[in-house]
Amino acid sequence: MEVNLISYTPEPEKVVAAAARLCYSSAAVPELLEGLGPDETARLVKKLYEMGHLSTFEHVSFQFSVDGVSRALSHQLVRHRIASYSQRSQRYVRETGFRYVAPPSVREKPEALRRFQAAMEYLQAGYAALLAEVPAEDARYILPNACVTSLLVTMNARALLHFFELRTCIRAQWEIREMACQMLEIAREVAPALFQSAGPACESKGFCPEGELSCKKNGTKHR
Ligand SMILES: Cc1cc2nc3c(=O)[nH]c(=O)nc-3n(C[C@H](O)[C@H](O)[C@H](O)COP(=O)(O)OP(=O)(O)OC[C@H]3O[C@@H](n4cnc5c(N)ncnc54)[C@H](O)[C@@H]3O)c2cc1C
Repeated sequence: MEVNLISYTPEPEKVVAAAARLCYSSAAVPELLEGLGPDETARLVKKLYEMGHLSTFEHVSFQFSVDGVSRALSHQLVRHRIASYSQRSQRYVRETGFRYVAPPSVREKPEALRRFQAAMEYLQAGYAALLAEVPAEDARYILPNACVTSLLVTMNARALLHFFELRTCIRAQWEIREMACQMLEIAREVAPALFQSAGPACESKGFCPEGELSCKKNGTKHR
């Protein structure tokens, strides 16, 4: 999988801090932005996070490109509604000889991997044969969840915090978790104050909401 940060709101932490200042000041935003140094910005962002004044985090957005992930992953990703997505179409782009993702549990067992690869080859051949007879939008019905896809994802910082809480958790499915962990690492590089506390609920909130399903690894309180 390849995850890249394509673009993001310039000076995202200052924008969030200025949004908060605006609520309690008679000054205009450009003036507030000018008066914000790095330390004060980081202090304000931390305070906003702790207070839960997270609407201010909605003013800044991050665009990630994601390539080489499975359709099994993208089905889960697009359940996150506070986001914008563009995804390679299987109506307009032919998937002849499609690439596919084999899960680690399959890759580590030679017999399972052989079975998996044989099934993929069978589907690749079936898809190619169907394409000669029906439109791509109909031939795609036999494409597997393992089929590789590409997406452009835009989320604001608040939506990202929520996404990271759910999808960096050990309970999340391995592939989307891997993607979320990479996104978090990249986001932290460009906006450390915004994302310093991001992560699974046991880390970001100090408790695990998973109850009986909790991994219990962090020894945290349960809601
Ligand atoms: C470990 C795990 C297992 C899962 N298993 C399943 C499963 O078996 N089956 C399944 O169908 N899904 C499953 N999901 C997906 C899950 O149910 C959510 O659809 C997905 O995680 C998106 O979460 P969300 O709705 O909180 O996020 P978003 O859609 O990004 O929404 C963010 C927040 O905005 C608010 N919001 C958004 N839309 C509305 C609305 N219409 N009304 C009110 N508030 C709204 C909510 O507070 C929500 O938390 C699973 C998710 C995880 C992490």
